[in-house]
Amino acid sequence: MSRSEFSIIESYFADLSPQRRDTLLAIGDDCALLMPTAGQAVAISMDTLVSGVHFFGDVSPEKLGHKALAVNLSDLAAMGATPAWFTLALTLPDLDESWLTGFAGGLSALANQHQIQLVGGDTTQGPLSITIQVHGLVEPGKAFRRDAAKPGDWIFVSGTLGDAGVALQTKLGNFKSPVLSETDQQFLNARLESPTPRNQLAEKLRGQILSAIDISDGLLADLQHLLDASSVGAEINISALPLSQALQKLPENIAYQQALTAGDDYELCFTAPAETAPQLAEAFSDEITCIGVINDSGKLTLNGLDRELGLSINKAGYDHFS
Ligand code: ADP
Ligand code: MG
Repeated sequence: MSRSEFSIIESYFADLSPQRRDTLLAIGDDCALLMPTAGQAVAISMDTLVSGVHFFGDVSPEKLGHKALAVNLSDLAAMGATPAWFTLALTLPDLDESWLTGFAGGLSALANQHQIQLVGGDTTQGPLSITIQVHGLVEPGKAFRRDAAKPGDWIFVSGTLGDAGVALQTKLGNFKSPVLSETDQQFLNARLESPTPRNQLAEKLRGQILSAIDISDGLLADLQHLLDASSVGAEINISALPLSQALQKLPENIAYQQALTAGDDYELCFTAPAETAPQLAEAFSDEITCIGVINDSGKLTLNGLDRELGLSINKAGYDHFS
């Protein structure tokens, strides 16, 4: 990297995020030096956003900065890990200072909210792409794992499902609904472009649940990963799926199809033992909804999927290579 590029990156990224006491050395040397508290496991995950694949080329840089970190924070939430550090690999077509200001602003706001520090990265020239790697901390025995669901567990999801999917289909011109107001559209777009990672909820659930996944590729696809990892089956009640006010205005078949299969909502799906699940349902009634139960059938069964609803659930979730 040239000197001028380096000083630009340094001026945008060096002070973007909070300084942590467990960071010995951050941006500026060949490596960062990090000092996790003894007894904590380091949870690591990485996600890439590519222009034209994961976002529209004209999306605002602020929102992109937010989303690039949000999707990674969501993985930490799904593991029950507390955010600590992240690194950023940026591939930029050119050095556009107003774009960088916006991008750094969106990134900075979310990083500060979650006390996660940017400790390094790489900057190269090429088609716009953003890769973030996050590092979180969790006591090993308290991590939420995909392989820890047990028959009898209740299945919960956070928030509402399908909002980002409807926003995306609307943007792609595949779907038009006169019943959605301007406010509804804004709400749905915000769900797509600035998702809220559920780290605060994950912190509160730590110690009370052992199995979770975040919904990035659609409920059915992601829940199936959890079922496979745990060698269990599940029964889901479609009418129990939490729908936003906006989605409740849509024809049921469209709303539920999006809630079951659309990606990008970044909600948590987790399981809790039957003994403690009712208390959780009560304590977090504003944030979570029970949608079904884990069983030992080895299959995922959907209740309420009658032909009248006209659902065609043949493609569970989004697969980049399909
Ligand atoms: P090196 O050549 O040793 O890999 P670089 O010149 O790529 O180092 O980067 C210099 C410093 O700037 C390193 O500490 C690196 O982590 C940091 N850095 C480079 N790009 C970014 C970025 N996009 N975000 C945060 N830190 C970055
Ligand atoms: Mg480098």
